[in-house]
Amino acid sequence: MTNSASAVNGRPTAAERIDSIFGSDVFSRTRMRQRLPKEVYRSLLCTIDRGEPLDPAVADVVAASMKDWAIENGATHYTHWFQPLTGLTAEKHDSLAAPDGAGGVVFNFSGSELVQGEPDASSFPSGGIRATFEARGYTAWDATSPAFLMRGENNVTLCIPTAFVSWTGEALDTKIPLLRSVEALSTQALRILKIFGTDKGVSRVHTTVGAEQEYFLVDRDLYFKRPDLLICERTLFGAKPPKGQQLEDHYFGTIPPRVLAFMAESEKELYCLGVPVKTRHNEVAPGQYEIAPLFEPSHIASDHQMIMMETLKRVAPRYGLQALLHEKPFAGVNGSGKHNNWSMSTDTGVNLLDPQDETHTNMQFLVFLCATIRAVDLHADLLRASIASAANDHRLGANEAPPAIISVFLGNMLSDILDQVEKGLPKRTIRGGTLDLGAKTLPQLPRHSGDRNRTSPFAFTGNKFEFRAVGSSASIAWPNTVLNTIVAESLDEIATQLERAVGARPTPARLQSGVIAVLKKVIKQHKRVIFDGDNYSEEWHSEAARRGLPNLKDSVEAFAVLKSRTNVELFRKYAVLGKSEYDSRTYIQIEKYVKQLAIEAETMVSVARGQILPASLEHQRRTAEAVAATRAAGVEAPETTRALQDLVALVDELRRRAAEVERLGAHHDADPIKHAAQISRELKPAMARLRAAGDALEGVVAADLWPLPNYRELLFLK
Ligand code: ADP
Ligand code: MG
Repeated sequence: MTNSASAVNGRPTAAERIDSIFGSDVFSRTRMRQRLPKEVYRSLLCTIDRGEPLDPAVADVVAASMKDWAIENGATHYTHWFQPLTGLTAEKHDSLAAPDGAGGVVFNFSGSELVQGEPDASSFPSGGIRATFEARGYTAWDATSPAFLMRGENNVTLCIPTAFVSWTGEALDTKIPLLRSVEALSTQALRILKIFGTDKGVSRVHTTVGAEQEYFLVDRDLYFKRPDLLICERTLFGAKPPKGQQLEDHYFGTIPPRVLAFMAESEKELYCLGVPVKTRHNEVAPGQYEIAPLFEPSHIASDHQMIMMETLKRVAPRYGLQALLHEKPFAGVNGSGKHNNWSMSTDTGVNLLDPQDETHTNMQFLVFLCATIRAVDLHADLLRASIASAANDHRLGANEAPPAIISVFLGNMLSDILDQVEKGLPKRTIRGGTLDLGAKTLPQLPRHSGDRNRTSPFAFTGNKFEFRAVGSSASIAWPNTVLNTIVAESLDEIATQLERAVGARPTPARLQSGVIAVLKKVIKQHKRVIFDGDNYSEEWHSEAARRGLPNLKDSVEAFAVLKSRTNVELFRKYAVLGKSEYDSRTYIQIEKYVKQLAIEAETMVSVARGQILPASLEHQRRTAEAVAATRAAGVEAPETTRALQDLVALVDELRRRAAEVERLGAHHDADPIKHAAQISRELKPAMARLRAAGDALEGVVAADLWPLPNYRELLFLK
């Protein structure tokens, strides 16, 4: 009798529940349409969708409506929410209430308060753009990213996504360059569409992003007992447990109930905030999980990514858990990344990287594909540098997915088509066919034309590229800014060549031969970056070297690339970043590396001296007493005596190594690049030696004396 999707036994179905909460804490389009006068709504859409300037009168009406909605939902404060160069988000709350002058309060929120804020810019990193006495900075409302409510235990705050800019007009955040890079890509992509005559009704091209987030969960009580986790989000000591990920039994395994409860609650909060999360599962390492959203326009995806990381952190403690977003919380098991799925789409919804059925005839797709390949080949070093950080060094180039050599995986079908283009007109598209499972009761599965490749850092996966080298704790804004900018440059170059080759309004035949001629050259020049094999293998490393592909093994090598003139020029040319804006980002990235390692070194020394050493000395005392007592009883104890000698030697080693880390960690160099180089050359190896001494002691000191929760306790969470 009831509607099919409606309540079951009087209880709402899951679909109804999700539908009723999805976006409930967002001042969404639907909400604006319902609450704003028609003309105001229409005028606002012109700003959001077409980038037209915002009418101040419109801003006043929107602000009043947004305030009413927020107050109805319990908000007392509002904040301009932005993403400074710390890589995190920032907020400064102001009350919506003000005294009315007659002993009561009024709730006010004007258009100008919505549109512009003025946080003190001097305490955010500016990488030299601003001296500390120059404090003025502005936040500007980004109407394209919906405002939302942030709910705390006893507080609700209206958050208004904004861009952050200095008084001089230079971008001080990660959002402005991202938006500018989309603009640059859009301009060039439209030229291509125009050549193909597919630009009708299209006013913009944007990039789409879906970022899969990997993370670890540990018990929060144990987390508080580990100063290294608490301060650095990674264990600086820790002997490997007998069982790590050897059995590969964690990946896609059954999700422990406590973890599942945490996931469900995080997802519920994310739904309320309009973040379209879709996938959850166990990852490869024990204690490691993943959450993935549906893709969205890149700047929204980037805002949502920040919200997602914050939500995981916020919800976990309710279940006695701590979410670790660090790239490498534990040695010896996999680290965490963020697979950045990326594509280009028209504002009419056409995915420009969708190959479709007869791919070999889809010239427009091949142009966008080849432009991306060209961009990655020309700027592999910059792409690599865009994801360089102290934390990501533990993954890239460190025997783990993915390697530091940036290459592109295409798969059989596309590799075959590019081979054909190189020789002339492509004639066929390889098909996957179907998979017969050999049991009549099972369905026939349509099969993809090629297998997947898990080892490639930049893989084509059906109708998008997946940039897998992004670190799990990183903001995705910068890597996407780089990706958009380098692809914009390639589209620019290819559009220019095509325009020259085929002229305006070419006939289909002319267009086809022109495209083939241009792509042939592009493929010849840039196919060296394409690699469909095993990226972990030794052979690939030597093969890549033969092909002349850069292999920037760690951050310090990557930082050098950032300094190059060509890169400064690239961002300037496409109006993404001016020189000082670019230089400041480079400086901050390197400085962050230096600071992080200094903190790690100091933490290590304090754990070694304050916790490991006393426990080890106590164990040494016990052992010495045991030897003495045994001897006193008239029995020789040669093994225990030797163990005591080894122990004393290890304790000495720990002291020596701690002193060494302390000394090398105190080094300073005014030039952050030189300082970073010293860290990579001297400090990091010393830290590895100190860790080895600590971990060896963990193996011998009595369990009841060991002061830190061990890997077994941390990783095998139930
Ligand atoms: P896997 O783990 O197999 O790589 P998932 O399904 O977990 O795949 O994640 C794929 C991600 O790619 C999702 O976030 C999805 O929304 C995103 N995605 C799909 N299509 C596009 C696209 N056109 N542009 C950007 N991202 C996309
Ligand atoms: Mg993936």
